[in-house]
Amino acid sequence: MTDAQIRDRIDHLRRERHAVILAHNYELGEIQDVADFCGDSLELSIRAAETDAEVIVFCGVRFMAETAKILSPAKTVLLPVESAGCDMADMIDAEGVRRIKAAHPGALVVCYVNSTAAVKAECDLCVTSANAPEMIRLLPPDREVIFVPDRNLGAHCAGITGRPMIFWDGCCPVHQRMTAAMVERRRREYPEAELLIHPEAPPEVVALADYALSTGGILRHVRESAKKEFIIATEIGMLHRLEAEHPDKRFIPLTEQAVCPHMKLIRLPDLLRSLEENRTVIEVPEPLRARAEVPIRRMLNRKF
Ligand code: SF4
Repeated sequence: MTDAQIRDRIDHLRRERHAVILAHNYELGEIQDVADFCGDSLELSIRAAETDAEVIVFCGVRFMAETAKILSPAKTVLLPVESAGCDMADMIDAEGVRRIKAAHPGALVVCYVNSTAAVKAECDLCVTSANAPEMIRLLPPDREVIFVPDRNLGAHCAGITGRPMIFWDGCCPVHQRMTAAMVERRRREYPEAELLIHPEAPPEVVALADYALSTGGILRHVRESAKKEFIIATEIGMLHRLEAEHPDKRFIPLTEQAVCPHMKLIRLPDLLRSLEENRTVIEVPEPLRARAEVPIRRMLNRKF
């Protein structure tokens, strides 16, 4: 089958199965182009909560599909490639959260959305990179705060909110590769460009950027900016949408090495097979699902 035939078949099945296709901003261009909606973790969580489709096909990684299932337990949630995981999410498990809580009795635990359902079920509040500082400000000031699993996003939030926190020692290996030397080189090469970075990068590199933003925040910033050149310091998939939306602007990756292998697994034939064969169905059994929903609903309702 040609790509055009695969896209036609996907369209047909999407209608027949009352399915919505969601794609993360880091997915391959061919997947972003057929999705009903592309976005960052927060935008996709909201879409997953609001959709009245019967089937959600989540083109992203497992924790994202799990989050959709937690919010829409009656819907079928499909992850087209079962092995699409997240190295950062896998750096902590439920037992790890219980251990760090035991070491800090009375502390509240904030989890980045990049965590498994089992981890979320142990936590008090879920955040995304788009809303983390705003959410942390909702917490009662007299309680200690533990942030899991991303030490870099945690440090970024502590810097913005002025709130000391205890960090789990996890990170995203893709963003952790970014260095001050890469920033210096790109600044020399493109002195007029604005440097936009994701806060999963190391704090000393984030400090050198013009703005630290979620992927949704980067898209919004570029739309509103009069600037013509941007150095983009996040996963390389972001450039596809930026270039498609702004053919008059120039986007330079901070590094071409910022490639998340998990986000590149889903190709058009996988998406088609997922709709045809109903796979891979993501399940989050009760009562774990109900416990994991609590910190996510607090985030979506902006209420603690
Ligand atoms: S880019 Fe990093 S945080 Fe995002 S899915 Fe890949 S490993 Fe996980």
